[in-house]
Amino acid sequence: MQVIRSPKVYDVCIVGSGAGGGTAAKVLTEAGADVVLLEAGPMWDSAKDSAMFAWNYDTPTRGWGGDKKPFGTYDGCLGGWQIDGEPYTIGTGAWRWFRGRMLGGRTHHWGRISLRFGPSDFRRRSIDGLGDDWPITYDEIKPYYDKLDEFVGIFGTNHAKDTGLANEPDGIFQPPPSPRAHELLIKKACDRLKIPVVPSRLSILTRPLNGRPACHYCGQCGRGCATHSNFSSVSVMLAPALRTGKLTIVSGAMAREVTTGPDGLATGISYVDTATSAEHQVRARIVVLAASCCESARLLLNSKSTRFPAGLANSSGVVGKYLTDSTGLSVSGFIPALMDLPRYNSDGVGGMHLYVPWWGDNKALGFPRGYHVELGGGFGMPGYGFLGGIQNFPQSRGGGYGADLKAEYRRYYGAFVGFAGRGEQVAREDCYCEIDPNTVDQWGIPVLRFHHTWSDHERLQAKHMQETFRTIIQEMGGEPTSAMPAREQDYGLAVGGLIIHEAGATRMGSDPKRSVLNAHCQAHDVRNLFVADGGPFVSQADKNLTWTIMALAWRTADYIAEERRKGGL
Ligand SMILES: Cc1cc2nc3c(=O)[nH]c(=O)nc-3n(C[C@H](O)[C@H](O)[C@H](O)COP(=O)(O)OP(=O)(O)OC[C@H]3O[C@@H](n4cnc5c(N)ncnc54)[C@H](O)[C@@H]3O)c2cc1C
Repeated sequence: MQVIRSPKVYDVCIVGSGAGGGTAAKVLTEAGADVVLLEAGPMWDSAKDSAMFAWNYDTPTRGWGGDKKPFGTYDGCLGGWQIDGEPYTIGTGAWRWFRGRMLGGRTHHWGRISLRFGPSDFRRRSIDGLGDDWPITYDEIKPYYDKLDEFVGIFGTNHAKDTGLANEPDGIFQPPPSPRAHELLIKKACDRLKIPVVPSRLSILTRPLNGRPACHYCGQCGRGCATHSNFSSVSVMLAPALRTGKLTIVSGAMAREVTTGPDGLATGISYVDTATSAEHQVRARIVVLAASCCESARLLLNSKSTRFPAGLANSSGVVGKYLTDSTGLSVSGFIPALMDLPRYNSDGVGGMHLYVPWWGDNKALGFPRGYHVELGGGFGMPGYGFLGGIQNFPQSRGGGYGADLKAEYRRYYGAFVGFAGRGEQVAREDCYCEIDPNTVDQWGIPVLRFHHTWSDHERLQAKHMQETFRTIIQEMGGEPTSAMPAREQDYGLAVGGLIIHEAGATRMGSDPKRSVLNAHCQAHDVRNLFVADGGPFVSQADKNLTWTIMALAWRTADYIAEERRKGGL
């Protein structure tokens, strides 16, 4: 095989341009490093590539995107649950894997729910004896959450004091948008049930910041933001990195292996040019993997050599292990009080304006970890399947045809609310990904095989979600649209991976025998190799993880910059 070697030796090679890779690129280039960034997908610029202002009814499918576009025709993500020529396989249990393949990764269409982990989230083993503590504390990562708040921009409020929820840290927030009618109604019911409902925290601007305008409330954040008002890696992180003149982006570069030298240190990345299938090698003094949690683990496991027979940075055998996702399930309810609602301007960001942080006492409840609740409802843009089955709805006049059917739609539009629980899975060694010895992708690169199951910790948490959401719907005078699932159905828990919060496959720790990375996300075995995605996580939390991926990536990049200044790397 002919290999094309880059003549230049870069200071740093970053693999992946999503939340983690983009953040590392910004910090390292601004610190003066000459950085090459390899991205498997094509270039993508939301200012011209986003279909933010298109109407669903202008497509032949009314916005339905089929298998290739599971979040809708106009969704701002290239990639998906299945990617042609890039399979993965399942060993034990079940797993779904949503992969972005484009500049910016999954950050053009993510929900922008940007929650800091709290002090307890870094020391769960000390609290309940399950899983492991992180090798860092909240206080060590707090300055990086602060930097993100100030640089990226996030709306929300400080509610720890009012709610008494000590594990919900304060931040530096822009004003949140006003709640909408359905959110206020949910809050009223929750107030009576003593469940806290507070302004959500989304990385979407409600005030101009660093040359980016405030959100104009079109509500189509998932299509990629043409005005850069919400966070994407390309709009917010890669733009300043490119302005330094220190960043080289190579798109269509599918990394296959981390190359190493005779001293066991990383020397760069071997990648496939996806347009020509030619093999290239880029050389760098430091390698940062940010290809997303499982892809980075795959790269390490595929980087086998005589010196590293189990894969690179894997003397512990822990690469791929302790893989987690958030738990998740949804319940929706029909609320008669919201029927025939006068139309009002319920515009806002493309996400919830209020949410429910975890409020329960796990010791009393009998399951170890909590969840937060994402609220849905209101007058979203109708698309394919909108109010399907209307003839069967409670109080329906039977659907009908023409004017009657339209009148029915108007009555029901906005009369449903949704509750999505997102909780913490306890990390376990027997949830993992490994290389499937029998399957390769279209470039001949061995693929991942997943093993993932839930335990009773998660099942009991799911039962609590179901009971709580149904109680809230009834308190609102409504009725759930589905029956309560049984224990045999895991109480409706989504299959692992489906919530798209993969973490932990290259976890950090103080003990090199039980972890892959140290407290700086630096490989124990290879000191010029770092990971900057969800891989380093020791545990999930009852919060979404991406704000923590970015805070950790910023901290890791700061450490690299400092070590370079001192000549340590
Ligand atoms: C619909 C949706 C909604 C979401 N909502 C939220 C939310 O509200 N809050 C939240 O916290 N999280 C949310 N997430 C999760 C969030 O998107 C991810 O946690 C985050 O994008 C992970 O960042 P990352 O940098 O690790 O990976 P990614 O953003 O996936 O970026 C990885 C990049 O690496 C590239 N890559 C992969 N393999 C290779 C290779 N071998 N060589 C070169 N490049 C490679 C990929 O093409 C990709 O561009 C959501 C995800 C989805 C899909």
